[in-house]
Amino acid sequence: MTATTHSKNFFRLETYLQSQTGRAIGDFKMIEDGDTVLVCLSGGKDSYTMLSVLMALQKRAPVKFKLIAMNLDQKQPGFPAHILPAYLKSVGVEYVIVDADTYSIVKEKVPEGKTTCSLCSRLRRGVIYRTAKELGANKIALGHHRDDIIQTFFLNLFFGGKMKAMPPKLATDDGQHIVIRPLAYCPEKDIASYARAMEYPIIPCNLCGSQENLQRKKVKEMVLEWERTNPGRTDNIFAALRSVVPSHLADTDLFDFNGLATGLAKVDEASLFGETTFSQQPLVFAGGMEENKLEFVRFEKSAPAGPARPAAE
Ligand code: SF4
Repeated sequence: MTATTHSKNFFRLETYLQSQTGRAIGDFKMIEDGDTVLVCLSGGKDSYTMLSVLMALQKRAPVKFKLIAMNLDQKQPGFPAHILPAYLKSVGVEYVIVDADTYSIVKEKVPEGKTTCSLCSRLRRGVIYRTAKELGANKIALGHHRDDIIQTFFLNLFFGGKMKAMPPKLATDDGQHIVIRPLAYCPEKDIASYARAMEYPIIPCNLCGSQENLQRKKVKEMVLEWERTNPGRTDNIFAALRSVVPSHLADTDLFDFNGLATGLAKVDEASLFGETTFSQQPLVFAGGMEENKLEFVRFEKSAPAGPARPAAE
């Protein structure tokens, strides 16, 4: 679709995605002056969108940075190797296509019927890091979005016994690169609408023959269902990931519960009494009674110890 045929809604959506991405970049200092960013493209909607948004932001950013798009051809059967180079040439971005037959390694190492994604991802990560090093890219951009982050959070919560998600920014284990997720604030549905309107040449993601992770699929459906029945819940969950209160969890490494003493810490006392208040949902008392008009039904105080009060004459 050409720019001239796009509707007002499209431009609104594009502006929204760009501003959300710009905000995430700013909040986490994802991109700084002089950076070279390796933008990883799989050929899916998310990575195409990420590249378009980053290219648009690059034009008007107050800092200078370089983008290099990268695709890894994993030699999966039927992979249409011509699609991405043609697209990347057409949009005029510097790019590199890396051939690495991770597919054969995965097929050889993983027994039939077992899930191949974990080894495949490890191998792919190794190739990406090596490529970044060879190209002098200090940042590696991945196309994960807000909903990926939320789903990962619940997967870890339900199956990993850990409260962790997918960070918008992290340092690689070898400390040589910073991985960034510029779409961290972007909802998947908006990315999907944008990608449809942009008519990206999407490459199917099931060429490897692996089944989609069943648990992730279930968690995704769960969150979607919540959103359908309680609109805004996904936003709230993501807001919660950005507003953690370690003193109200139970991780002794995160908060010094042992060092707690009276007169030291300011505590949100509401939760001590089991109250849960939400700023979005003001407390409503039955019959429209306001909090400050509450009357004590019974206020009984024990008599102070001491001499008995003389009887009234
Ligand atoms: S779905 Fe296929 S290509 Fe993707 S990580 Fe899993 S094995 Fe690799």
